[in-house]
Amino acid sequence: VGKPDPILVATDVRKAFGGIQAVDLDHLEVQRGGITALIGPNGAGKSTFFNCLTGFEPPDSGRWHFEGQPLQRLPAHKVARAGMIRTFQLTKALSKLSVLDNMLLAAPNQKGEHFLASLYPGSWRKQEQHNRGLAEALLERFGIAHMRDEYAGTMSGGQRKLMEMARALMAEPRMIMLDEPMSGVNPALVQSLLGHMRELRDEGLTVVFVEHDMDVVMDISDWVVCLADGRVIAEGSPDDISRNPAVIDAYLGA
Ligand code: ADP
Ligand code: MG
Repeated sequence: VGKPDPILVATDVRKAFGGIQAVDLDHLEVQRGGITALIGPNGAGKSTFFNCLTGFEPPDSGRWHFEGQPLQRLPAHKVARAGMIRTFQLTKALSKLSVLDNMLLAAPNQKGEHFLASLYPGSWRKQEQHNRGLAEALLERFGIAHMRDEYAGTMSGGQRKLMEMARALMAEPRMIMLDEPMSGVNPALVQSLLGHMRELRDEGLTVVFVEHDMDVVMDISDWVVCLADGRVIAEGSPDDISRNPAVIDAYLGA
């Protein structure tokens, strides 16, 4: 379905693993500035779709434009620099590094600029200072500033989820793709994560997230896309989607 102001337009994105067609997507647009939920039964291809779009997995085919810029075949760090960032279903925190260092490592300039950095040490220092300030501000914003100098391995599951979202924002993205940010999280933290997502959306960030809990999806989404067998089987407003027979079938059939 065409959107009035899409930030992302993806066409013919396909990915097979052996005999399994994990992603088989004809066309998808994401409206700028909204919260879009990506739903669908286990194995529908949601994570693989995220992987393909963000350069973590090479698709068999596909084209996609982000902010009008073609991103297919770019490696993950270049996709990140273009402003599209994802988080993982299982967090990738480095437990033997401090929380602050985990944040700093998520800054996009860490990769591939050592040569330039040695030529322009001044600008590198400026970037370092910027990253540090941003990291501190994000830790504050997500309520984990007191963990700053602790090993990431000492964080609770909930604190890790908060850090995962904060880390993604280190790249100062235009769009954030969250893969099951609420999974295994207690109800109070779900509310806090939802609050952060709303705030980010209200600040102009585009948010796409994978979620299984339909109450959460209905509560927060501006738009819902349902995948099954790698295909978009329905999309629409939360109300429409909750009444859509194809969506109900996909879930009951799972
Ligand atoms: P979802 O995130 O919607 O649960 P996935 O994208 O993880 O779905 O998986 C889609 C399909 O692709 C599943 O059948 C899964 O088993 C398969 N799959 C995903 N990743 C791999 C992989 N690295 N190797 C083989 N099969 C995979
Ligand atoms: Mg998944």
